[in-house]
Amino acid sequence: MDFELTEEQKLIQQTAREFALKEIQPRAKEFEQKHEFPWEIYRKCGQQGFLGMTWPQEYGGQGVSFLDAMLVTYELVKADPPVSTAVLAGIFGADMIAESGTHEQKAKWLPRLAKGEITSAGCFTEPGGGSDIARVLDTRAERKGNEWVINGTKQFITNGTTASVFVTLVQTDTKVDRPYRGQTEFVIERSDAIEARKYEDKMGWLASPTCEVRFNDVRVTDNDILGGPSNLNRGFYLGLMFLDVTRAAVGWQALATAEAALERALSYAGEREAFGRKIGGFQALAFRLVEMATQVEMLKAHCFRTAWLVEKARENPAVYGEESVKMASMAKWFGARTAVQACDLAMDVMAGYGYVESDIDRWYRFAKCLELIEGTKEVQKNAIARLMLGRDITKTF
Ligand SMILES: Cc1cc2nc3c(=O)[nH]c(=O)nc-3n(C[C@H](O)[C@H](O)[C@H](O)COP(=O)(O)OP(=O)(O)OC[C@H]3O[C@@H](n4cnc5c(N)ncnc54)[C@H](O)[C@@H]3O)c2cc1C
Repeated sequence: MDFELTEEQKLIQQTAREFALKEIQPRAKEFEQKHEFPWEIYRKCGQQGFLGMTWPQEYGGQGVSFLDAMLVTYELVKADPPVSTAVLAGIFGADMIAESGTHEQKAKWLPRLAKGEITSAGCFTEPGGGSDIARVLDTRAERKGNEWVINGTKQFITNGTTASVFVTLVQTDTKVDRPYRGQTEFVIERSDAIEARKYEDKMGWLASPTCEVRFNDVRVTDNDILGGPSNLNRGFYLGLMFLDVTRAAVGWQALATAEAALERALSYAGEREAFGRKIGGFQALAFRLVEMATQVEMLKAHCFRTAWLVEKARENPAVYGEESVKMASMAKWFGARTAVQACDLAMDVMAGYGYVESDIDRWYRFAKCLELIEGTKEVQKNAIARLMLGRDITKTF
């Protein structure tokens, strides 16, 4: 087994690192303080080819492997976790178009997203619940002649106020044996019939706009169904396929967050003195740093294997599909937990300075959000348990 990256991968990584340190790190705090989406950085990332990297070149992507894209994600996020993740989430939901969309849907949206000209949103969560999307959704589409008329509210939607396109899970049929068999993903262009309100009092991740989005008599046709009319009532499955991959990506974001926090803690522990010695010389702190470094290394190994499995599952879903899904859910919950714990440790090590004037307070608040987005840790564990133990024993949850 060879853990060495190829020369090309090392170059991608180095380019991303240099870009992140020059363009993102110095301005990150400013964007968070202003609660402002970092358009300038987003566009520059588009120009560098860092958005939608796995999408085909025909649609503005780079056609690279999932691992290559994650090497870039890792470098960008490590420079400033909340702001870089806000930038990368600028194209949230659009992977569904890349994976399952029609040629027209891909050609219309992906090239402009990849260039960083516009943003997108992926809309699953509703006021009635985010974990249980298999239930009957409140956002409904009613057939009227050749059109569908969509009404309903989605909540906690990333980019709700900025997005030009909303990939949205909607209940199209309620007379089905299981509610999720009547759900459809629509690719909806922004119009006056869509209202968005940003939550201003969020705990963290302040440069990323999290919003309530209302669909008021939004009119679409069968051609706006993700992947076309044959995907009517297949939206739940298309959404899961998307989340199975993005959860692996959250694992990488969490890895970069944990490692960035750990590096700050190590550097501080090597400089700060108390009682006449460097604080890293106190065994109580040193052991915690060692334990965290071990946990981060384990997470890194897991993320690499998950990235490998995501690629394998694309080529051969029958053999690698379940393993890839299980590993992605593990990367998501274990990664996010590790990121929260690493920020907590960095805060303890940096103490007053950490709380008052470091970046760690922003990173800490952001890390918690990694535990919630794209399925909580309980939801991930339910999914893993089903794969490990079988649906029959786990059906109560
Ligand atoms: C900053 C931010 C950005 C977001 N961006 C988006 C976005 O772009 N698009 C989108 O669709 N959503 C988005 N979300 C929503 C996110 O995905 C949901 O918050 C998440 O899925 C949880 O849903 P909920 O908040 O409704 O919690 P609930 O579903 O109400 O869950 C509450 C608690 O109950 C637990 N729980 C629920 N069911 C079970 C069970 N079966 N077993 C054990 N425990 C259970 C949960 O784990 C959680 O601890 C975002 C959220 C945040 C905070």
